[in-house]
Amino acid sequence: MSSVLLKNIGTIVSGDINAPILKGNAVFAAQGKIVKVGNESELNVSAADTTIDCAGTTVCPGLFDSHCHVVLGDYTPRQKQTGFLESEVHGGVTTFISAGEVHLAGRPKDPAGTKALAIVAAKSFANFRPGGGKVVGGAVILEKGLTENEFEEMAREGVRTVGEVGLGSVKNPEDAAPMVKWAKACGMVVMMHAGGTSIPGSSTVTAEMVIQTAPDIVSHINGGPTAIALDEVKRLVTDTDFALEMVHCGNPKVMVEAANLCVAHNALDRIIIGNDAPSGTGVVPLGVLRVIAHLASLSSITPEQALCMATGNTARVHKLPRGRIAEGLEADLVIMDAPMGSVGADALAAIAAGDIPAVSMVLVDGEIVVSKSRNTPPPVRKPEVI
Ligand SMILES: [Zn+2]
Repeated sequence: MSSVLLKNIGTIVSGDINAPILKGNAVFAAQGKIVKVGNESELNVSAADTTIDCAGTTVCPGLFDSHCHVVLGDYTPRQKQTGFLESEVHGGVTTFISAGEVHLAGRPKDPAGTKALAIVAAKSFANFRPGGGKVVGGAVILEKGLTENEFEEMAREGVRTVGEVGLGSVKNPEDAAPMVKWAKACGMVVMMHAGGTSIPGSSTVTAEMVIQTAPDIVSHINGGPTAIALDEVKRLVTDTDFALEMVHCGNPKVMVEAANLCVAHNALDRIIIGNDAPSGTGVVPLGVLRVIAHLASLSSITPEQALCMATGNTARVHKLPRGRIAEGLEADLVIMDAPMGSVGADALAAIAAGDIPAVSMVLVDGEIVVSKSRNTPPPVRKPEVI
């Protein structure tokens, strides 16, 4: 790994929802980590191995897709497509969180098979970066018969998350809550499906069931794809401190209502953003960018806040050392600008107008993995390696 200097940046989005914009025009990273942020003249960087002139555009942390139904490799049996993860990296996503390898054909539902699948997915994605993106794979699905010892074993073997509670045979809070406690005790982050039944074999989950189960994350508070009622959304916003996920493959009306409720209740630090794909809705390479644009153009959330929800908020909830542009964190970065023809003059103005920003470069651990997005429209101003 080498060093990289990003200079002539117009706007630096921090990833920190409490201070979304950073002062300065340069970011320096070395050995895969962010070293310095500020004005180029004050950084005292003598020579970087790579220097990128950002041409006055916007730099933000690499985006997170907080809800991705990976299985193994860069292939989804659900929609029979290859390369869907690599394609999403072209939409600025550098971290994917598995919400459960639920689409595996013949997915085992006994404890031994369930445990084995979570471990093999966690380990294989730890060794495999599709398109350069980092996948937190191996989200165990709660099935009847799993024991406390098995949660400890999975955690030891690299399983960091519990996939959406409600997708497996453990559906009722009385069955799920003890497993959720075991999982949390070994450091796992727990997601729980909310809303209507998504696929055959899964179940409808109400706000009351979520509250009784006490996960870390309410998956798709706007439905995946069928949303809970608005009074239930309100209860989850006001009566809990769970992270609240908004997804592309959900209900857009409820997303906007939930977002405005979060603004009113000062809960913006709890919102995280995901795709909930591959799913019946399809594969959506720009889904995370679309949710950001929807939130920033249709609710009272600002573009920079929406970007922080898809970066620093998700990283914090999943305890990952990235997602903000700050010293010592992993240098996963996206360079973006207004797309050609947008009414917005820069990336943030374009997003506020409801446009997808143009991704012009993506870096993972300080290395360029996308030098021109094949999925977003082209940018007005292009960064250049000099
Ligand atoms: Zn779901």
